[in-house]
Amino acid sequence: MPAVPTDKSKPYIPLAGGATDGWSNDEEATATCFCGAVQLKFPTQGPGLVATFLCNCADCRKITASMFASNFAILDTHLTHVRGRENLTQFSQARTIASGNTMTNYFCTTCGTLMYRVSTGFPGMSALRIGTVDDFHLHETKLKPKVEQFIETRVSWLHGAEGVKQVEGSNF
Ligand SMILES: [Zn+2]
Ligand SMILES: [Zn+2]
Repeated sequence: MPAVPTDKSKPYIPLAGGATDGWSNDEEATATCFCGAVQLKFPTQGPGLVATFLCNCADCRKITASMFASNFAILDTHLTHVRGRENLTQFSQARTIASGNTMTNYFCTTCGTLMYRVSTGFPGMSALRIGTVDDFHLHETKLKPKVEQFIETRVSWLHGAEGVKQVEGSNF
């Protein structure tokens, strides 16, 4: 059996981090921090799932400690904190946000995983991270980014996600 199954229609939940109770079904799935203390539940289609996108902006590079962020937006009315909400630390700033909005980041206090960001410009929704979703098949299917934004600040040795709309600046 290959290490990564090729049938993208079935859940594929590799051992990643401290939790072993991630799951998905036809309508919903979990997102869990690296240590397992924080777990979210969210819908994997509309109307609760609003957008899927990559962002190469300078803040996303810094805050992910990587070269871009892979995000999906969920309406707060459809987002459930399964556990660990009290274990989230908030950090907000507006100085470097291109739109001038204040972005509040919610991190696991124990392991530092950024679980979601909330913008004052988009009330009522949270931007979760595709990488925290326990079922990796969803990264390839329902949560595959539809848009890649801030391509002008993408690192030069990456060339954009295949088949994904490319946008300079913000798509939203
Ligand atoms: Zn954690
Ligand atoms: Zn960004």
